[in-house]
Amino acid sequence: MDKYNTLTQEIIDEIKAVSNHVFLGDAISPDYERDEMPIYGTHKPDLVVQARSTKEVSDVMKICYEHTIPVTARGAGTGLAGGCVPMQGGVVMDISQMNHILNYDLENFVVNVEAGVLLKELQEDCITKGLMYPPDPGEKYACLGGNVATNAGGMRAVKYGTTRDYVRAMTVVLANGEITHFGATVSKTSSGYSLLNLMIGSEGTLGIITELTLKIIPAPKATASLIVPFTDLQTALSAVPKFKMAHMNPQAIEFMESDIVKMTENFINKTVFPKEYRGQDIRSYLLITLDGGSQEDLDQQIDQASRLCFENHAMEVFIAETPTQISNAWAARSAFYEAITDEIKLLDECDVVIPINHIVDFLTFVNKIGKDLGLDITCYGHAGDGNIHIYQCSNEMSEEEFMAKNEQFFDVIYAKAVEYGGEVSGEHGIGSSKMKYLENSIGKTNIDLMEGIKRVFDPKMILNPGKVCHRL
Ligand SMILES: Cc1cc2nc3c(=O)[nH]c(=O)nc-3n(C[C@H](O)[C@H](O)[C@H](O)COP(=O)(O)OP(=O)(O)OC[C@H]3O[C@@H](n4cnc5c(N)ncnc54)[C@H](O)[C@@H]3O)c2cc1C
Repeated sequence: MDKYNTLTQEIIDEIKAVSNHVFLGDAISPDYERDEMPIYGTHKPDLVVQARSTKEVSDVMKICYEHTIPVTARGAGTGLAGGCVPMQGGVVMDISQMNHILNYDLENFVVNVEAGVLLKELQEDCITKGLMYPPDPGEKYACLGGNVATNAGGMRAVKYGTTRDYVRAMTVVLANGEITHFGATVSKTSSGYSLLNLMIGSEGTLGIITELTLKIIPAPKATASLIVPFTDLQTALSAVPKFKMAHMNPQAIEFMESDIVKMTENFINKTVFPKEYRGQDIRSYLLITLDGGSQEDLDQQIDQASRLCFENHAMEVFIAETPTQISNAWAARSAFYEAITDEIKLLDECDVVIPINHIVDFLTFVNKIGKDLGLDITCYGHAGDGNIHIYQCSNEMSEEEFMAKNEQFFDVIYAKAVEYGGEVSGEHGIGSSKMKYLENSIGKTNIDLMEGIKRVFDPKMILNPGKVCHRL
């Protein structure tokens, strides 16, 4: 077990001498104790630094390293795996005030940003310049540093890939306070181990990201979304692999069931999705977005996609083409999480990822296990890449009973996912919440390799203790 020191007044004074942005005691907002899933535990930090520069992060890290004080990096705190919770107290290094878009390099199609810039700000700024930053996780108020630290995915991953595919270079403050740079503006490299890729998805356990060089692309010229209703989920999901087989490349293919759509439309007070068609109840939907280099190209894709949906038993295809229609079509999808958390007293979630040809069988299995255990199960997700969001909910159970059933549920469904060739997390990360399942799925040898890598980056194990592979 790694041992940490507590902050003394002397150490606090040292930190205050290098940072004017220090918060202590009651001045620390309770937000710093948690992320968006407090069920994984909360913990108050002893001190928060709202850093404004790489040098400030470095100066504070040097002090924490010398005195063996734990440090947890934090972006916007929108994580869903307990990642930014300071389990051992100590210092929270809040990067969210390092929030400047520094400059665009349009000859190399990259943008340089500070790590605290919000995803929403970069996406919107790119649009004003005819550009696109393709990664599109549902939570637009996350910081880009947090997106990189969790390798966030999102709706457009099926066509454009995840955050990892857009990180060219980064500035990192190591555990001992040293400032280093990984990667380069170049679009390819074969230059030794990829330290850049080790950092992506490392959840604050290897270093603190302060600046990023991100790849951007020209924005598509035309976009449309299709709302495609089906009589049941299996039929809807069976249509998904057919898009690839038909050489179609939608920007997003999401699946959802009617119950969650109804719950969310009530929550946002807006009705967009049809609930029945020609006297038949609609039970599930695909929400598909297509983009193209011209209106003509897009029109062709809409025709082809509609034909493909009808051939695969879609009840109808509703086309949203204007910006308002498209944003209405996505409004309900974007509010699923808020709608569920608003209605449900006890809930947990996972974002398991499995090969797309097993989604139907896996979901049937998950629903059965949930029912056997008395848990209400709600699923939706990225049908195009097999990343499924499963919510275990209960308004009836005691917290103790819920936690016990929930653990049994996870034990069984993660084992099944691995059997199908899946992985524990497609995009949210491991944090503290999924460590047991990571070890069960990748085995002790691989966990030991991860822990060994961590020890090289962070010999005193002060960065985000108790996360990913670091057992407390
Ligand atoms: C409604 C909702 C929808 C969501 N939808 C998606 C989705 O579609 N796809 C998806 O992938 N995620 C999604 N998420 C999860 C979350 O938004 C992402 O995990 C996001 O990347 C977290 O960013 P953050 O800035 O909030 O990070 P935080 O929650 O602050 O931190 C997350 C982890 O990253 C580390 N970290 C943060 N900043 C740094 C840094 N600068 N250097 C090193 N480590 C750092 C932290 O220590 C922690 O381990 C959703 C969350 C919500 C609430």
